Amino acid sequence: MHDSNVTDCTIIGGGPAGLYASFYAGMRDMSVRLIEIKASLGGKLHFYPEKKIWDIGGMPPTHGLNVMEQLIDQSSTFEPEIILNTRIVNIEKINDQLFKVISEDGGSYFSRSVIIATGGGIVYPRKLKTDKAHQYEKTNLHYTIYRLNDFKDKKVVIVGGGNSAIDWANELKDTTAELHLIHRSDTFRAHESQLRKLKESNVHIHAYTSIEKLVPGASNNRIQAIEVKNTQSETSYQLSLDDLIVNIGFDSEPNFHQTDGLDLSLKDNYYIEGTSLAHTSLKGVYAIGDIINYEGKVRLIAGAFHDAVNAVNQIKESVLPSETPQTIMSSFHEGLQNKSTD
Ligand SMILES: Cc1cc2nc3c(=O)[nH]c(=O)nc-3n(C[C@H](O)[C@H](O)[C@H](O)COP(=O)(O)OP(=O)(O)OC[C@H]3O[C@@H](n4cnc5c(N)ncnc54)[C@H](O)[C@@H]3O)c2cc1C
Repeated sequence: MHDSNVTDCTIIGGGPAGLYASFYAGMRDMSVRLIEIKASLGGKLHFYPEKKIWDIGGMPPTHGLNVMEQLIDQSSTFEPEIILNTRIVNIEKINDQLFKVISEDGGSYFSRSVIIATGGGIVYPRKLKTDKAHQYEKTNLHYTIYRLNDFKDKKVVIVGGGNSAIDWANELKDTTAELHLIHRSDTFRAHESQLRKLKESNVHIHAYTSIEKLVPGASNNRIQAIEVKNTQSETSYQLSLDDLIVNIGFDSEPNFHQTDGLDLSLKDNYYIEGTSLAHTSLKGVYAIGDIINYEGKVRLIAGAFHDAVNAVNQIKESVLPSETPQTIMSSFHEGLQNKSTD
């Protein structure tokens, strides 16, 4: 029996990694508490509810929102304690098997192990630095896409050269009236198949191009065109548009694991250095998902699932050694036999 105030595991962060760890730890019969700063679970999936996700094994291509809802549903299978709107600011090690997880509002959560699943951290889409850009955010300047339909039959310009910008371009290419993609170089950081699809489409790609100026319409509250510059030829030109979608990465607030008080090894003063088994430099504290770094780390949902299973199994073996050590398969799990899947 466990002391009801001390959980076997406290998971910090309710994105794909934390949600899957919550399910898997429940399957391994561990008591779980999951703490999330935002008002709802789902992590970065909130940034792409209508983007199709193709690369989760066994799942047909489906929108981010569906993946998010299914992950949240699955995470609650073993009824973990979920605490929302709570920002974790520190972890205190009391001994190798007891940690105090401390929240900004002064809460203390005791736990035999901790899994840090804080992903990109407390993140916001990176904004355009162009003068007065913020004044168009209520009209036709977008940093994420909530409804693809909003862009139907419109002339749209996407800025960016990473996976997200390329995925959005592919999602929108058949429904927009005209679609342009502008990127500061000609090197795109995207999956090859998505890039091929884009290059074979009628999307106008402007490589080595950056935004110089936003040109307002008559009412001054919408962008009517952008002035862009080709940095190779040094020529500038205008592109008229109905909507501008900017996908140039994310900015994050400093998070608790970067503070001096916590003895965690970091890479680039941000990522938590760890192992492929989710160990960190602090015994009893594990890291999973986008926040951990090790050779071969995959910063995708599939990679988050892999880390989550390893962290939970490691906790089971080293922090709770008296209990079943080996991995078990869900098809043999007694608790799951009684759960309805329909
Ligand atoms: C636009 C876009 C498209 C993508 N497309 C795909 C795709 O098609 N396929 C794919 O596999 N992956 C895709 N990804 C990547 C995928 O979303 C991430 O790999 C995944 O979200 C990582 O999950 P995570 O749980 O590690 O982190 P996150 O999703 O970042 O979740 C971390 C959670 O921790 C919370 N948190 C942070 N700090 C604290 C704190 N101090 N206290 C409490 N809570 C905290 C955050 O609020 C957040 O909810 C995409 C990402 C983006 C941005």
